Amino acid sequence: MDQVDALVIGAGVVGLAVGRALAQAGLETIVAEAGTAIGQGVSSRNSEVIHAGLYYAPGSLKARLCVQGKDLLYALCESHGVGHRRCGKLVVAQNGAEVTALRVLEQRAAANGVPVQWLDAAQARALEPDLQCAAALLSPTTGIVDSHGFMLALQGDMERAGGMLALGSAVDSAVLGRGGEPHVLRLADGSEIAARAIVNSASLHACALARRFQGLDQRHIPQEYFAKGSYYALAGKAPFSRLVYPAPADAWLGVHLTLDLGGQAKFGPDLEWLDAPVPEAIDYAVDPRRADSFYAEVRRYWPALPDGALQPSYSGVRPKIYGPGQSAPDFRIDGPAVHGVAGLVNLFGIESPGLTSSLAIAALVVSEIGL
Ligand SMILES: Cc1cc2nc3c(=O)[nH]c(=O)nc-3n(C[C@H](O)[C@H](O)[C@H](O)COP(=O)(O)OP(=O)(O)OC[C@H]3O[C@@H](n4cnc5c(N)ncnc54)[C@H](O)[C@@H]3O)c2cc1C
Repeated sequence: MDQVDALVIGAGVVGLAVGRALAQAGLETIVAEAGTAIGQGVSSRNSEVIHAGLYYAPGSLKARLCVQGKDLLYALCESHGVGHRRCGKLVVAQNGAEVTALRVLEQRAAANGVPVQWLDAAQARALEPDLQCAAALLSPTTGIVDSHGFMLALQGDMERAGGMLALGSAVDSAVLGRGGEPHVLRLADGSEIAARAIVNSASLHACALARRFQGLDQRHIPQEYFAKGSYYALAGKAPFSRLVYPAPADAWLGVHLTLDLGGQAKFGPDLEWLDAPVPEAIDYAVDPRRADSFYAEVRRYWPALPDGALQPSYSGVRPKIYGPGQSAPDFRIDGPAVHGVAGLVNLFGIESPGLTSSLAIAALVVSEIGL
């Protein structure tokens, strides 16, 4: 049986970042991807925003890895010529309660070491004349990135460092080695490969896959939930040059306006909890009827949104590890200190800001593996 130092499961942005970091650390590394191309999972269905790190609880992995990952991501985009723009974003409040929420966000940003600037309504309108708000928080380090260009750069770096990408290689299960024995992975085609380290970066499939790791105590595997977010593209010219987000609500960041590098504006994602039992059962079609609630939400900060301007675009699904009404947990980067299996790291609940954090997650995974 062939053996490698490290096998990473999943060639999304996180798996590729991990594969690159492991290969650059000198480990013989394979990234095994079930699909026929890289980045066709959650990584191809998101907002492509480089988050500044405003929202997350100070000291949490999300806060720490987002802020570190943002700096690493901007640096990599510049060194590798990956398309990106540090366009900045405005978080806007419409009434007293939202102004209070924005002040809390301002303090949280300060605690996370993220620069922000408070703007009154006139100052906000001086930047974005069509914007309606009572106050706004300007985040100058928020940006946008060509996520596919970024993933290609990660793959290139990994291959230059000797790492390999194996497409069409679905991992079915594993028997985890104990006492220094390698782990044995079984692929869907029945073949087997041994590895001293496994990184489970299968995102929507990560929990189900971990349940097929013989030798892992099932108590260490969270229940997965899937929450869809639909986007609507704006027909016509973008009204703003910065991203615009409402003051944050419970489980997500609200219906916000993001821009792509071509200057096209889109609104979303909304939040729809799914009852799909497995990711294969997810329907990614965007329901045109959900646009109705978008008009109301968007007109709170952009009253001039014309009727009929929103076109159903695409959707993505968040790999959540908490259900409706529960509070959002941190990223789970479960290494040997959590589950006691040497050389195994399970990545659970890597939803937003996973794209922004990917390079910092990768650095943490390398230190968790400790080979
Ligand atoms: C609607 C939405 C908006 C978002 N917006 C942002 C944003 O603006 N900024 C940001 O920072 N983050 C954002 N995120 C989060 C970000 O997109 C994710 O955190 C990130 O893409 C996750 O990458 P990943 O590599 O973990 O997952 P994926 O890209 O899903 O990769 C997992 C891969 O594993 C493969 N796989 C699964 N099972 C197996 C198996 N058994 N064997 C082999 N391969 C397997 C899959 O085919 C897939 O390619 C958003 C997420 C969503 C859903």
